[in-house]
Amino acid sequence: MKFADVVKFHGHACPGLAFGFRVSEVALRETGRARDEELVGVVENNSCAVDAIQVVTGCTFGKGNLIFKDYGKQVYTFIKRPTGEAVRIAVIWEAPAEDTQTTEMWKNFSRGDRSKEVMQAIKARKAAKMKGILAADPKDLFDIRHLTIQVPEAARVFASVRCSVCNEKIMEPRARIIEDKIYCIPCASETV
Ligand SMILES: [Zn+2]
Ligand SMILES: [Zn+2]
Repeated sequence: MKFADVVKFHGHACPGLAFGFRVSEVALRETGRARDEELVGVVENNSCAVDAIQVVTGCTFGKGNLIFKDYGKQVYTFIKRPTGEAVRIAVIWEAPAEDTQTTEMWKNFSRGDRSKEVMQAIKARKAAKMKGILAADPKDLFDIRHLTIQVPEAARVFASVRCSVCNEKIMEPRARIIEDKIYCIPCASETV
C-alpha cells in the first residue's frame, strides 16, 4: 500500500493523512497479525488520519472493527482478536521550527488573509510538514507501547424495531422507550 493509494481514497494529501499512514505502518509491523487474527482499531479522534488507517489496516467503521472514542487525542490503539495483544501509538512529533517568514505568513492566514502570496506560503508549509512526517523515523513520530487489553466485542447483529413517530427502523439498542412507546433518537429528542 502506497501513500498515493490513501490519497486517492481521502481526496487530498494532507499532514493528517500522512500521520495516519505512518500510524498504520507501525500498527501492522508491531502487531504482526496472523491470518486468522482480526485487528481492531481504536481511534481517539476523527481527523483525516483515520481515513488512512481504514484503508491501510482494514479496520473500518462499516466492519465494526474500528472504534471511535471522541477524546480529541492523537492516540491509536490496535488490538488483536482473540488474544488481546495490543499496540498503543501516541503521536509525539513536534514540527521543526519554521523560519520567520513562514511564521508571519501563517499569522496572516489565521487572521483571514487569503492573498495569493499567503496561500502559496501556506501550501508550501503544508507540503513541507507532510514530507517531514512521511520521512521521519517512527521513534520521532510516536510513543509506541505494547500492552494486553480486553478485546472489544465483535460487531453484533441486532433486531430492529419501528419508531412510533416516523415509522423508520431502528436497531434495538438505540431505540428509546418513553411511556411504553418506541422512539428513534431524533424523534425522542423532539418529543421530550
Ligand atoms: Zn485531509
Ligand atoms: Zn422516529
